[in-house]
Amino acid sequence: MSKKIEKTEEEWKKELTPEQYYVCRNKGTEPPFTGQYYNSKQPGIFKCVACGNELFDSTTKYESGTGWPSFYQPIAQENVETEDDHTHGMRRTEVMCGKCGAHLGHVFPDGPRPTGLRYCINSVALKLEDKK
Ligand SMILES: [Zn+2]
Repeated sequence: MSKKIEKTEEEWKKELTPEQYYVCRNKGTEPPFTGQYYNSKQPGIFKCVACGNELFDSTTKYESGTGWPSFYQPIAQENVETEDDHTHGMRRTEVMCGKCGAHLGHVFPDGPRPTGLRYCINSVALKLEDKK
């Protein structure tokens, strides 16, 4: 695992679109059923839109019906970071990019087998690339 990426908020603002900045740096959430990937069945690797870190494989993506792209596991556990999130009066676990700390979404314990986890991720935080 290579070094972590650290940038100032000003730098992130310059590099990301306003939507990407809102989700990745301000921990925003895109409206459900609006994202580019919630319905995507295209094979490939979902990377962090902010730094290119490989996050999720399309083979672990499944139809959750929530309106956000949902995965049952990350490509590697160390590629994402999780943290307890008690904002908005809910107990949730936040998922962040392990490399640049971008907010990606949340993970819930109601996913399918084999992990039983549902990584509920904003499309805006992802970039789908073909497998090499
Ligand atoms: Zn990242």
